[in-house]
Amino acid sequence: MSEGAAKKEEKPRKFQAIRGTRDLLPPETALWNRVEQAVHEVFATFGFGEIRLPILDPTELFARSIGVDTDVVSKEMFTFWDPFDQRLPPKYQIEEARARGINIQNEGELATIGLALSFQQLTLRPEATASVCRAYIERNMQQLPQPVKLYTIGPMFRRERPQKGRYRQFYQIDAEVLGGSDAPGIDAELIEMVMTFLERLGLEGVQLHINSIGDKNCRPKYVELLREELRKVKDKLGPDSQRRVETNPLRVLDSKVEGEQEIIEKLPRISQHLCDACRENYDEVKRQLALRGIVYSQNFRLVRGLDYYVRTTFEITAKGLGSQNAVCGGGRYDGLIELLGGPPTRATGFAIGEDRLILSLQEQAKSKEVASGEWRVASEKPRVEVYVAWMGEKAYATAIRAAKNLRAAGFSVELPPVEQKFGKALGQADKLGARYALILGDNEVASGEWTLKTLATGEQATFAEADLLKFLGKNRSGE
Ligand code: ATP
Ligand code: MG
Repeated sequence: MSEGAAKKEEKPRKFQAIRGTRDLLPPETALWNRVEQAVHEVFATFGFGEIRLPILDPTELFARSIGVDTDVVSKEMFTFWDPFDQRLPPKYQIEEARARGINIQNEGELATIGLALSFQQLTLRPEATASVCRAYIERNMQQLPQPVKLYTIGPMFRRERPQKGRYRQFYQIDAEVLGGSDAPGIDAELIEMVMTFLERLGLEGVQLHINSIGDKNCRPKYVELLREELRKVKDKLGPDSQRRVETNPLRVLDSKVEGEQEIIEKLPRISQHLCDACRENYDEVKRQLALRGIVYSQNFRLVRGLDYYVRTTFEITAKGLGSQNAVCGGGRYDGLIELLGGPPTRATGFAIGEDRLILSLQEQAKSKEVASGEWRVASEKPRVEVYVAWMGEKAYATAIRAAKNLRAAGFSVELPPVEQKFGKALGQADKLGARYALILGDNEVASGEWTLKTLATGEQATFAEADLLKFLGKNRSGE
């Protein structure tokens, strides 16, 4: 085979999205926007401001705040060496390169070798709380009126096994209350905010689960007691739980292993072992939820494995998600900011899994519309309101002006970029699901009387330019 023939057969590689990541397309993205719009509106009414964070932060920030012992940090993070850490003067970069046996003469060569000089590891954030806390400390937000209420929306990254509702790039809606007191009213209002938001979206089958995990006075004693009890049944537990009996007994409580469920039901529960202060706090949180008309169930298995988490924790589940049914997790973490080098600071927050929330909304819409004999994605289609069918150079100039004015008035307009016969143009308008076709030919331009066709009915009417906008405004589509 000649070289030429071999080349011919080589097809360019077709690329695919990386495992666990996905493209979100219209019309689904309209639903995402609607959800995010509701976040901005509802959260603002609770006094929250938006923070936008980098997607990269130092690995150490996550390791310290999430804990090296967790699945997220030990095996799920996308981490890499910063190829060129700008903090280091070139002189040291050259030294470092030489120390690794790479012969570099001068600064110029540094850039050309693309060498990974590893001075700082970076991670694609697996969650937002750590970065929010980093920003709170770095930007001296403790000097602002407290508490500081922040929220953020964006992608998170975890190298997990992809499945329904579990992706490697997924999106969270995250809210944090930093500083101020640990008044139960803060926890209750935070939960009220997320419930209000979910209600605004019309999400059905939402369940709120709450628990208190005590504090550094009472939790250590409970953990010891739990460990004692777990040791007695250790041989009936799976390997993960067996390990956790020693390393982190609390985490045995959220095990999903079938054979362990009966054992877990019989274990001592933290609610029976809270100190007086924590019990009063928990009772008050529950009372305040009731004051707000919020229905909850208590779940003693809702725990966090890390020391800086205290007292109230909560989780919200939704329908249509199979075993990935948690759409929101949250709780109080009074010790974290200090652990990250800041002043002692009260803090509480939550993270909503936006992908799962949207999946649940879609499932809900699907089951409703299946019941009514129709199925479509529950979001507005990017519908064309006016298709401008034009013929002739003069008409084109008028069409451009008409499109501009209609768009300025908020209508979605399709203006064909090349001339089409009217028949073809109307066919195209139909295919796009346009509501109206505005017909502009030489006659219309000369007379100043434009023809508007309502596509569903075939009705036609003529308007002077100024009257057209008035008419369309009155007959706005979708209303
Ligand atoms: P799960 O128990 O479902 O793994 P988690 O405890 O790891 O959740 P958090 O770290 O508390 O979750 O994150 C908050 C929310 O983010 C979860 O309730 C879930 O809705 C969502 N979430 C977490 N991991 C993923 C993922 N890989 N893909 C999609 N959504 C996710
Ligand atoms: Mg997880």
